[in-house]
This record gives sequence, C-alpha cells and structure tokens, in this order.
Amino acid sequence: MILKLGVTGPDVVNLELVLQGLGFTGFDVDGNFDNKTENVIKYIQKAHGLTNDGVVGEKTLALLDSLYEPFIANFAVKETPVVVPVVDGSVPTGSEELTEVHPILARKVIQIIELAKREGYNVTVTQGLRTFAEQDKLFKKRPRVTKARGGQSYHNYGVAADLAFVVNGKISWDEKLYKNIGRWASQVGLTWGGNWKFIDYPHLQLASMPGVGQLLATYNKAGGNNAGVKAVWNKFVGG
Ligand SMILES: [Zn+2]
Repeated sequence: MILKLGVTGPDVVNLELVLQGLGFTGFDVDGNFDNKTENVIKYIQKAHGLTNDGVVGEKTLALLDSLYEPFIANFAVKETPVVVPVVDGSVPTGSEELTEVHPILARKVIQIIELAKREGYNVTVTQGLRTFAEQDKLFKKRPRVTKARGGQSYHNYGVAADLAFVVNGKISWDEKLYKNIGRWASQVGLTWGGNWKFIDYPHLQLASMPGVGQLLATYNKAGGNNAGVKAVWNKFVGG
C-alpha cells in the first residue's frame, strides 16, 4: 500500500487519524491525501532522516507505526481472553473490551470513537470478544436477544465489537444516534451491522469476513479456545 498526493479512501483516513494521534494539525481528516497531508508527511520524514518526498511507502509506514505504537500499546492483545461483562445500567469505559479483539479491529474502533468525539458524541464499546459459553448464555436469554449460539457469532472470534452512545452518563438506544455509525464505519473501513438484512445498529466487524461457519471450522480444527481464535485471525485477517 502506497499513499501519496491524490490518493483517497479509508486508508487515508487511517493515516490522517494516526497523524492527528501524533499531535499534528492543519489538515482535515477527510480521506483525501492533499497538499496539507503531504506537508505533514514531509515534515515527519525530514525530522527522522528519511527522504522527504511526501510519499508513504514501506519505510515511512514503519516509521509512523513505531511512533504510533505507544498510543495503541494499551490495546495490545492479551494471551488469555477475559470477557468483561457489561453490568446492566452501568457505563463501561469501553477500552478493556478491545484488549481481546484483533488489534486491527481495536485500532479502527478507537478511530471511530475519535471521529465520534470530533462530532460531539460520546461513544463506548459494550462488547468485544465473547466466549462460546457467554454466547450460549446469551442465546438462552428471554426475551430473545440473539439467534446465535456459541460459535455462530462473529464476536466469538474477536473480529467484532458493539458500540453504544453515552448521553448524560447513560447508554442511549436512540436509533437516530446509531445511524451515524455507518458513516464512520465506511470512513475507517469496517463492516456495519446497520446495513444487514437483520439490522444490528451497534455492531461493527472487520471487513471481508467469510461466513461464520468457515470461522468455526478453522477454530475447531485448531482445538478451540485461544488457539482457535488465533487460527481464525491468522487465516482470515493476517497478522
Ligand atoms: Zn455485535
């Protein structure tokens, strides 16, 4: 992936959010690699001894990653998934939900939270990885909240996360608010449940995931649990 003057799209939004996370200003987070974006890249390249051509190739990308690392260090993947349950009526801080999901998803969700903040919305993460046992428990809940048993939800593989809006210190389920998520999801390149036949407004997941049956097969083949989740990541996400 090479990003340079004139390129547009979700990858440029990611880049602009990273630049913003590094403290740079004076450009818009709009997915357009324009002169302003280029100037920031040139500045960073020069400051770190790289050719300041304003082109984000392999070396510049590696540099940006190394500079950005401390910012996302808190969201590194733990070896043992631990599900933090959401207590009814309470407001989770959200970030711990992202410690068990794939780091690419974690990073994109954080970017959405930042995009939301910029528009004056307070968004939190209510669910990241959900174990098979947790999923089965949820399946038995009445009134019904999910049609998915253990293994049948993308959440079971750490490739999905649910968002909620916090208004005056409480979670709001106002549909109007949730329709914003679709816009942010396409900006950072995530799949949004609001576009599905069975609408799931709070739901986000990594793009280009195969059917959940394929994930389950890979998970089982690797022996399930952490090894199973890791196998799914390696096969379908990479990294
Ligand atoms: Zn979900």
